[in-house]
Amino acid sequence: MNRFYRRAVIGSVAGLFASMVLALTGTLSHPWAALALGTAIGAIGSVPFRRRRGAYVDSLMTAGSLGVPLWALFSLVLFPAILGRSPQWDAAGMRAHFPGLVGWVCYGVLLGLLTQALEDLTTRTLGPEREPEPELPKKQRRVVILGGGFAGMETAAALENILGGDPGVSITLVSETNALLFTPMLAEVAGSSLEASHISTPLRTSLHSAAFVRGRVVAVDLPKRQISLESPAIPGMAPEPARELEFDHLVLALGSVSNFFGLKNVEKQAFNFKNLLDSIRIRNHVIEMFERADREKDSAARRALLTFVVAGGGFAGVELAGAMNDFCRGILADYPNLRRDELQIVLVHSRDGILAELSKSLGDYALRSMVARGVTFKLNTRLLDARPGVVVLSDGDLLAETLVWTAGVAPNPLLATLPFERDKRGAVIVESTMAVPSYPGVWALGDCAALTDGKNGKPCPPTAQFAIREGTQLAGNIKRALAGLPPKPFHFDSLGVSCVVGHQTACVELAVPFTDGKSLRFSGLLAWLMWRGIYLSKLPGLERKVRVLMDWTIELFFPKDIVQTIDLT
Ligand SMILES: Cc1cc2nc3c(=O)[nH]c(=O)nc-3n(C[C@H](O)[C@H](O)[C@H](O)COP(=O)(O)OP(=O)(O)OC[C@H]3O[C@@H](n4cnc5c(N)ncnc54)[C@H](O)[C@@H]3O)c2cc1C
Repeated sequence: MNRFYRRAVIGSVAGLFASMVLALTGTLSHPWAALALGTAIGAIGSVPFRRRRGAYVDSLMTAGSLGVPLWALFSLVLFPAILGRSPQWDAAGMRAHFPGLVGWVCYGVLLGLLTQALEDLTTRTLGPEREPEPELPKKQRRVVILGGGFAGMETAAALENILGGDPGVSITLVSETNALLFTPMLAEVAGSSLEASHISTPLRTSLHSAAFVRGRVVAVDLPKRQISLESPAIPGMAPEPARELEFDHLVLALGSVSNFFGLKNVEKQAFNFKNLLDSIRIRNHVIEMFERADREKDSAARRALLTFVVAGGGFAGVELAGAMNDFCRGILADYPNLRRDELQIVLVHSRDGILAELSKSLGDYALRSMVARGVTFKLNTRLLDARPGVVVLSDGDLLAETLVWTAGVAPNPLLATLPFERDKRGAVIVESTMAVPSYPGVWALGDCAALTDGKNGKPCPPTAQFAIREGTQLAGNIKRALAGLPPKPFHFDSLGVSCVVGHQTACVELAVPFTDGKSLRFSGLLAWLMWRGIYLSKLPGLERKVRVLMDWTIELFFPKDIVQTIDLT
């Protein structure tokens, strides 16, 4: 029996007997009214209270004291009102109703004693009251996203959007840095066209209901559904202990790292070109080389200081070589001891043409215009080794104090510690829904995933353009999975590709929709303006857009900045 129903029955029986006092003492002028009212009060008054076994004194006193307000309410106010009289709480009225007070208190005492006795009896015969089912808090499902790049951030933002702050789901974004780096503009930082902080957006403030955790993921325990995090080391401070974070859904969006294909010396000697710090270091180093060359008397040594080698003829390498070329030639005027012909920007590429992602005509155009601006190309040439001051190429040694590596990327090495099937690049092979096969609730996307388009079966390229669309779709798939629905396969048709090759020149190739491979090609100044317009619109945040626009405007009127920024590491 429901505990409230049970208490009401007990209370009404006790109330019926107790109300006989009311009837016998004449507290109410009509005995039947006294019985009905006493029974009702007993039933209603017992429902909220849970009595301890044998607590007679407690029950007696509580119910007895209840007699006083009941007397005031019924005897002094309600009954006179029913009879058309005014309340009788003056001294004369109270005195007249004093026997009623005794009756009500006796009623209360009796009600308390009887209710307690009946409850104890019922407990003995029927057993204790059935405890209500404990209200279990609705289990919160935890979605943990690893990596705050394009893929991870888009997944988090889209999930925030479509879940609309559902308290049943927690979203946590974990990343090493508190910034979403807008990599398409990275070369402009190295080339001193843009301020470093203007191309990265703080993740913490970009998220609303999702939590952000800054930390480096060092391990993923799939059976325990838990990840281990280390906080980034702060020089001079004791390292923080590793933390654990549990998940129900895990999103791997850890991106990629430079792949040196086992060239250990190259790895030691070369600059990476993957993140903001790399860009800052490259720019600082270029200025440093100019400063040293300015003091150097030996012309061969000066030449080596002013030779900047970029390995890799893909987008990153070409954009960096173009930006460095503009930067170096732009600041030459500040170093009167240095001659223009001593400066060399060399791009080394193992194939016979650059920018394989563009159509051949645009790739050739990019090559010609960069050569015209003074960039040296070493095509069909492989980088074999590097020593301090020497870059070893397949066609001989090149004396150069600067080498930047953009010739290969590999998915994040953390993936190698997980039992997932991976392709030959090392990317996690996922279903077209981005689900990791055989591991329910684990998903991978972006540069660290080997994903094939669910419609055309083509592999999805490791680009920001795809990573963002994958993030949006994955958020929808996670929502579906949370609701017990099957996820949907990913499909996206590339919008096109573009590349800045330096000095207000770019190549843009826009895909024509529904034509299966046809494209519109643009080059030169128009393409450069298009590039800037497209990427400015894609840069997250109005404030960042304004800052970048201002940097670009300043660049038009003032010479390149040669102040070295601080690198704390
Ligand atoms: C110089 C350059 C220029 C580019 N230009 C273009 C372009 O013009 N157009 C285009 O479409 N694409 C471009 N790309 C490619 C594009 O940047 C990538 O495809 C895209 O960033 C992939 O997104 P992602 O989220 O998978 O990885 P990423 O953006 O690399 O994000 C990975 C995230 O994981 C974090 N992370 C890594 N390891 C850990 C760890 N152990 N613990 C915690 N966090 C970790 C990183 O800090 C980072 O936030 C360019 C890339 C580079 C390097």
